[in-house]
Amino acid sequence: MPEINGHSVAPSKRIAIVGGGLVGSLNACFFAQKGFHVDLYESRADIRTATKVAGRSINLALSHRGRAALRAVGLEGHITTEGIPMYARMIHDLDGSTHAVPYGTRPDHFIISIDRRRLNEVMLNMAEKFPLVKFHFNHRLVKCNLESGDMTFSISGGATVEHTADLVIGCDGAHSAVRGVMEKKILFDFKQEYIEHGYVELETPADKSGDYAMAKNYLHIWPRDTFMLIALPNLDRSFTTTLFMPFKQFDQLTTETAVTNFFRATFPDAVKLIGENHLVKSFMDTKPSSLISVKCKPYHSGRAVIMGDAAHAMVPFYGQGMNAGFLDCLMFHELMDQYNDNFDLVLPAFTKMMQPNGEAIVDLAAYNYIEMRHLVNTWSYYFRKKMDNF
Ligand code: FAD
Repeated sequence: MPEINGHSVAPSKRIAIVGGGLVGSLNACFFAQKGFHVDLYESRADIRTATKVAGRSINLALSHRGRAALRAVGLEGHITTEGIPMYARMIHDLDGSTHAVPYGTRPDHFIISIDRRRLNEVMLNMAEKFPLVKFHFNHRLVKCNLESGDMTFSISGGATVEHTADLVIGCDGAHSAVRGVMEKKILFDFKQEYIEHGYVELETPADKSGDYAMAKNYLHIWPRDTFMLIALPNLDRSFTTTLFMPFKQFDQLTTETAVTNFFRATFPDAVKLIGENHLVKSFMDTKPSSLISVKCKPYHSGRAVIMGDAAHAMVPFYGQGMNAGFLDCLMFHELMDQYNDNFDLVLPAFTKMMQPNGEAIVDLAAYNYIEMRHLVNTWSYYFRKKMDNF
């Protein structure tokens, strides 16, 4: 009989997790701890051995929902000590002045800036400790029978391999292949929307003394009404600095002079911190990425269920995409306990509980872009006026 944490466990059902990103790797921890056979299939190579990981956002804001899920698998302490608390938004006005807008009134009201790759690695490492967990990197799901659990993966060299599972969990992101199969089923609703804005990630390096170039414990925002720059701190004392802007406007910045003039006119203090040459070079070297929202219903079909971005990809302005995906994992496992691991009951209950939440957070995230790039100006004006009266 196999052993989990020194305890003998009965042979169990086979769970296939498609996608070893943030939500897939956390799910692997949850299922592993319950003694299931877990096969995690990831289309990329193992990020733990990669020199460079292609993809989105170097760091992310971890908040209450995400922490609750990490706590449930025993990783909260480990992850949060590797993160940087952000207690307030730091608004940067055009004239270079700054003021803070706190996230709350208590010392424990903060969000945490964490490194995406490190978080993913820590969760993979934890899942891998369990003998019933097997990772299959360089496996891209290309076919899936939702009723039988039969799956086909393309592997290197153009070959394909077949696997089967009692439960297939699609954690394969915004362009999910598992959801793609669900989309062909009757009574499956699906809507995706690209916004007209894209983003580029730049870096604000440490200052000359090797320290943070700006106050460390803040989410810095340069709101400019129709676009914005934000910066989140990293442990190496840099800030990941992201410009969100309409594609139309990106298209106009085709020369070094145009880029320099744009940044000097709209983010003069940021130019000094990032360094003009560094900024222009990294901007010119980077193509803006797109931002997509996905809504769908139901989240399950046959033996399959989708979670995270596969179910509810959202624009990043509420900092909740990963957090909402982590909450999916936590809620799914609470339902597993409630229904004694009976998938026939758990899957519909999961859709019933989480699908309305998914739609709501997708809408809130879209709304928060207006809040961050524009209303924050109004709010901070109001906030400062109020403070002047005290
Ligand atoms: P993904 O991270 O996309 O992982 C999916 C995985 O599946 C990938 O590893 C992929 O390689 C794999 N895969 C895809 N297709 C297949 C296939 N066919 N077969 C096998 N494997 C496959 N969220 C927050 O909570 N806080 C933030 O501050 C925040 N900031 C963000 C900033 C930006 C700029 C962006 C773009 C997003 C941000 N998000 C944030 C959202 C967050 O990145 C996502 O919600 C989160 O990554 C979703 O995790 P996931 O595991 O569902 O999907």
